[in-house]
Amino acid sequence: MHIVSAMSAIPAIHVAIVGAGPSGFYAAEALLRSGRPVRVDMIERLPTPFGLVRSGVAPDHPKLKQAILVYDRIARTPGFNFFGDVQVGRDVTVAELRATHHAVVFACGAETDRRMGIPGEDLPRSHTATEFVGWFNGHPDYRDRTFDLGQETVAIVGQGNVAADVCRIMAKPVDELRSTDIAEHALDVLARSLVREIHVIGRRGPVQAKFTTKELRELGEIAGCATLADAADLALNAESETELTDRNNLNGPGNIALFRAFAARKPAVGQRAIRFRFHLSPVALVGDGQVEKLILTRTRLEGPPFAQVARPTDEPVKVDCGLVFRSIGYRGVAIPGLPFNDTLGTVPHTGGRVLDGAATLPGLYVTGWLKRGPTGIIGTNRADSVETVESLLADLSKGCDREKRGAEAVGELLERRGVRVFDYQNWSMLDTAEISRGKPKGKPREKFTRIDEMLAASTGRGNEAGRFFGSALEKTS
Ligand code: NAP
Repeated sequence: MHIVSAMSAIPAIHVAIVGAGPSGFYAAEALLRSGRPVRVDMIERLPTPFGLVRSGVAPDHPKLKQAILVYDRIARTPGFNFFGDVQVGRDVTVAELRATHHAVVFACGAETDRRMGIPGEDLPRSHTATEFVGWFNGHPDYRDRTFDLGQETVAIVGQGNVAADVCRIMAKPVDELRSTDIAEHALDVLARSLVREIHVIGRRGPVQAKFTTKELRELGEIAGCATLADAADLALNAESETELTDRNNLNGPGNIALFRAFAARKPAVGQRAIRFRFHLSPVALVGDGQVEKLILTRTRLEGPPFAQVARPTDEPVKVDCGLVFRSIGYRGVAIPGLPFNDTLGTVPHTGGRVLDGAATLPGLYVTGWLKRGPTGIIGTNRADSVETVESLLADLSKGCDREKRGAEAVGELLERRGVRVFDYQNWSMLDTAEISRGKPKGKPREKFTRIDEMLAASTGRGNEAGRFFGSALEKTS
């Protein structure tokens, strides 16, 4: 942990960032590079930093995880403190952070899923993509979830890149995953998988599928797996043809070419198959105590190009399947003490300044998926966080209270409450331990997936060994 006490003519501003994912780190970077004396205190509910880059990016996409190298450099910049294993709303309140810091930036992402709102959605063997992705990535919240991969037929509702990840991890030969950082418990279950057929279901047409072409192509290249589409499903209306010719349509033309190639393929006996299905909207999940069927209704597209919606017809379609994943988009979770738009699942804002009705709430800011909704790639968060930090610095340049004590004050508060803090030094030790556990298996790391194990591995002393921030402060300053 870096505790900076440099005396400076201009007093440092103390900024708390809540959430240690990409948008939080890009906000920290923008602050630390701003040229102003700044102290950044990043507060994260898990002991581990890096958010979705650690627990959302699929294990077979290691290049995307290289963003961690950038975040690690930011974390090692003087003026940065990591408060891991501390939850805002439980261990410290928004009001307390407002009192201890000049500004608080919320970068908590979109931690839950949208709901389909249909009967049977919560039946056993119906899961969200978040649960499955968190499970195979070793997120402690999902460590003990169980997924019945003894089923032959699986349906995935949604046609975005998360659906592609869920599909690919089930469809790939398990041996191709052994050298990734996939959690060991997931590898064991995938190795026994009996899944033969995966239906990937979109409520609109092939031109409207949200996959990026790169991700879709990858699904077509899985060894031992036929990737199929029905030619009749690929007929396009005039509005979809118009969408295809738009020069800003980056993925539509590549995707439709791939779907057409998939429609010409035939499955070989004994192969796994991925089937892309279109114009089907979910109506119900049914089964005797657990999922046995997904009931859909055929849809037709209505509306102008780029605003076409799926209108249900009265033609029912059923898919017999023993396992369903809902991959229809993430949504943010409300934070006690912070305004929240429940319809959008985001915090209302203007230029990153948190809004309460029409008024901005001084000192409160938001960035990333909690600000704009769950869209874009990891790098999209950089521009988003730069905008928020520009607003924050502009506000503080008008003058700010000199009395804030930032990390020191929060540390005292947490110590009084007996809250253990997992700092960046703890994380570095855990990181080293994970890497060395992975080595004999040829994996980049073997993640610890339980919080107790993380604490033990990072201190070598077991659960009770996590330090209070106050004592860490004394040791390192
Ligand atoms: P997404 O791209 O928004 O896709 C959501 C899918 O769910 C769409 O097909 C959508 O269809 C469908 N859907 C929404 N509501 C539905 C409903 N009620 N019934 C049926 N279908 C419904 O979301 P995502 O896949 O969760 O991805 C989130 C973000 O992360 C995206 O920006 C994505 O690109 C990014 N990501 C990137 C990567 C990567 O780069 N490798 C990997 C994972 C995620 P409509 O279009 O009709 O709404």
